[in-house]
Amino acid sequence: MSSFKAILISRDEEKKQSVEVSQVNESDMMEGDVTVAVEATTVNYKDGLAITGKAPVVRKWPMIPGIDFAGKVIESSNANFAAGDDVILNGFGVGETHWGAYAEKARVNGDWLIKRPQGISAKQSMSIGTAGYTAMLCVMALERAGISADNGPIIVTGANGGVGSVAISLLSKLGYEVIASTGRTDEADFLKSLGAADIIDRNELSEAGGPLGKERWAGGVDAVGSHTLANVIAQTKYGGAVAACGLAQGFDLPATVMPFILRGVSLLGVDSVMAKKSLREEAWSRLERDLDMAKLESLTTEIGFDDLIGAAKDIVEGKIRGRVVATI
Ligand code: NDP
Repeated sequence: MSSFKAILISRDEEKKQSVEVSQVNESDMMEGDVTVAVEATTVNYKDGLAITGKAPVVRKWPMIPGIDFAGKVIESSNANFAAGDDVILNGFGVGETHWGAYAEKARVNGDWLIKRPQGISAKQSMSIGTAGYTAMLCVMALERAGISADNGPIIVTGANGGVGSVAISLLSKLGYEVIASTGRTDEADFLKSLGAADIIDRNELSEAGGPLGKERWAGGVDAVGSHTLANVIAQTKYGGAVAACGLAQGFDLPATVMPFILRGVSLLGVDSVMAKKSLREEAWSRLERDLDMAKLESLTTEIGFDDLIGAAKDIVEGKIRGRVVATI
């Protein structure tokens, strides 16, 4: 019987979770109409939560974690894909309810896949990963809300993280003035090299603030939530907009309606997991066009398959800067 290497999260009778590198039988793979040889993957915050068990990301056991992969189709009965196609998968419950990316092979529903743009390699696509693709969705949401570089600066919170670092790179290439909010101000040079014009300490935003503050930015990309998001909204200029995608500080939103009703500020929710195919394809083609690949390389750390578990633990502890990519 043929088998392949994978990271497996298991649970015992007392619901205690364990994680190990295992050999998995191909006959045990979950249902799907496309089988892919995984070439590269990455570590997102959600993968960290899955592997450490700090939040209920995994819903079925045993589970192969990993919400993102790039690979080559080995076998397909889906009309849209054929053996040899280069594909990317982001989200759709893969690594949560369906066996995921941390394996040599994955079998998935072809409707979850998109073809990898030719200008982006498998490794680069995972260096971008869900975090970078979500950063692009945030930028697109701001654009749809009518925000342009002429309106004023954009604040990016969680600046040293995956979403934040890619958002800074994208926004600066698109001509925006970017303010980076971070707890790691010693990384100011790194953030400036990505294109941040100004750095602020995240403590300025992380405590409870007033309903309306001084108008400081035309928009924001927020990966942090909680008081930070509330303060970002309260300090957004008249007619501005904030794209909210994360909860690194917390999932609460202790805000008032004042910025919405007195300044016409918009709050834009961004979800990457179930985003429709047309939006995904648009985001990936924008990434191909608008992301500086040299900057992407500068914010990426390369690791091996056997380092994935350790990197997943590190991301939950806020020890990862930028993005991590693993080739398989
Ligand atoms: P990372 O862990 O790479 O980055 C998160 C960053 O947030 C950290 O680097 C840190 O930045 C900052 N941060 C961490 N803890 C706190 C805190 N207590 N208070 C304030 N800031 C904090 O994660 P990602 O960038 O991959 O993801 C960011 C968030 O976005 C996560 O909550 C994730 O779940 C969510 N997400 C949502 C998606 C969606 O579809 N909506 C898709 C992808 C991610 P610094 O050190 O610079 O302060």
